[in-house]
Amino acid sequence: MPLYEFQCTECERSFEELVRSAAVVAEVKCPKCGSVHVRRKVSTFASKMSGGGSAVAPASSCAPGGG
Ligand SMILES: [Zn+2]
Repeated sequence: MPLYEFQCTECERSFEELVRSAAVVAEVKCPKCGSVHVRRKVSTFASKMSGGGSAVAPASSCAPGGG
């Protein structure tokens, strides 16, 4: 199961939560203060880019369907 990292915007408490579906994210609450005002942090498996001033290549968006 995907393990996401959240951070409470109320008390800035960082915690991890097992998210089986996207709907669960909306039900994630802070284990400390119980606030629902939490934001999902960057996934651990995502490549962390340290440092600054480095030009990042724009990711080509591949949107399904036309507009
Ligand atoms: Zn909190």
